Amino acid sequence: MNRSLGYHRRFVFWQAYSSVVMSQSAQTQLLDRFGRRVDYIRLSVTDRCDFRCVYCMAEDMEFLPRPQILSLEELARVAHAFVRLGVTRIRLTGGEPLVRNNVLSLVRDIASAPGLRELNITSNGSQLSKYAAALRDAGVTRLNISIDSLQAERFKAITRVGNLERVLAGIQAAKNAGFNRIKLNAVILKGRNDDEILDLLEYSIANELDISYIEEMPLGHIDEHNRALTFCSSDEVREIISERYELLPSVASSAGPSDYYQLAHSPIRVGFISPHSHNFCHLCNRVRLTVEGRLLLCLGNEHSMDLRAILRNGASDEELEQAIIAAMDLKPERHYFNLDDEPQIVRFMNMTGG
Ligand code: SAM
Ligand code: SF4
Repeated sequence: MNRSLGYHRRFVFWQAYSSVVMSQSAQTQLLDRFGRRVDYIRLSVTDRCDFRCVYCMAEDMEFLPRPQILSLEELARVAHAFVRLGVTRIRLTGGEPLVRNNVLSLVRDIASAPGLRELNITSNGSQLSKYAAALRDAGVTRLNISIDSLQAERFKAITRVGNLERVLAGIQAAKNAGFNRIKLNAVILKGRNDDEILDLLEYSIANELDISYIEEMPLGHIDEHNRALTFCSSDEVREIISERYELLPSVASSAGPSDYYQLAHSPIRVGFISPHSHNFCHLCNRVRLTVEGRLLLCLGNEHSMDLRAILRNGASDEELEQAIIAAMDLKPERHYFNLDDEPQIVRFMNMTGG
């Protein structure tokens, strides 16, 4: 009798204990000094790319030697640690994530993390004809596909090497694979593709794709254009769209840089990513991991922690988690971008993981 009472008490205690643990782990434990919760990480799975977009890379890039980049196992280990700490959304990016060998095995591994709600990929679309269906089977939730022009020659000029037909075929393959809410990303540069703002929107409407217009960020030294001269603000883009289409306030929020609108009489959403003109830092819920294993706490600052050293020093899972929790104290309050000065951030976007 007493024994069974003791057992019952222990059982009740265990139930109460596990519900506390469950509710703690359901919420992210990653909190920075400004009270922001981090529940989203972007992992750069490679710095390499089959394109050389003029705003993202220099023409002759030197890529990292293999020993310096995280192995697929190391990337997965970091991803699982973040999910155990309450991160619910992961985006794989790069470079071009789909040029990394065996990227599908990484996707499968990360997708299996208990508690992960979304595993998304940002891609230039060049490899999607080959990979779209397999990515969906492997557990990818959503795709963002970058496309800055619908004119073949111009597309080639902006990407330096890209083939528009391949990217358009990749977008169709993603649709055929059954992905929902595919989103296009377009960086708008004055004098280069600002006359295609409406064409890109009309392509999105015809294909039922969301679209975000992006202001160029001053990451890395580029020589093809003067960033101050080509800068096109989100307000200007929105004005051009509003002359022909009605944009309604949208409840969709990524707790991030995109400001979303619903296009009237259409299922599609239109987003504006405005790192210059609208500061979104107070809502920032994300951190980034470069492919070298540097945990970057802010896109526009260099505050970081070297997780590769921790991984390669034989840290246990618990030590890795403690390092990640400690890194949150390094997250700065905000970024400052100034187009007229030399870029303060010398790393290119392919290193950062856009
Ligand atoms: N290769 C993939 C792609 O292009 O979608 C993923 C990586 S790319 C760095 C991610 C996003 O960053 C793309 O939408 C790209 O247009 C954007 N991007 C690259 N350099 C940028 C810059 N300097 N300013 C703003 N956006 C940039
Ligand atoms: Fe490659 Fe994407 Fe950078 Fe273009 S934006 S060079 S596709 S990583």
